[in-house]
Amino acid sequence: MEKQLHNLYDNLNKKYFNNTLPKSSEMTIEWSGRLTASAGICYRKPKNSIIRLSTHYHEDFPEDIENTLLHEMIHLKVKGHGPEFKKEINRIISLGGKVNRFSKRRATEKRINWIYKCKICSKEYERNRKISKLSRYRCGICKGKLEEIKV
Ligand SMILES: [Zn+2]
Ligand SMILES: [Zn+2]
Repeated sequence: MEKQLHNLYDNLNKKYFNNTLPKSSEMTIEWSGRLTASAGICYRKPKNSIIRLSTHYHEDFPEDIENTLLHEMIHLKVKGHGPEFKKEINRIISLGGKVNRFSKRRATEKRINWIYKCKICSKEYERNRKISKLSRYRCGICKGKLEEIKV
């Protein structure tokens, strides 16, 4: 399943981005059973960016896999869903691609701007606001220190 996602990513990268996005071998692209708030999510990082697609969402809308993946791939270039994002959408549509600004369950999409990841057990805590005094916080599971990732 993950291999299929990597292949699809490679094809879309070639077809719509001239291979200007990171190679799939330098990415984590995976299904997530925990992701229920949105169809997909993209964590852009200097190295090893992550794209996760919701298993739940695509059980209901299997025809949207390419659409969601393209959407998250745009987030590797553009943050948020503003004018720059709209431009990318139009560019891809003009090349014959299918991609939407919002998934069909937009209403339940959670706004996540920050991820706090435990340095020990890797549990991720999603927040819409930045935690100002991070050193005061610890992982709820193992009491490990948290690492901050801007989404
Ligand atoms: Zn988005
Ligand atoms: Zn932990």
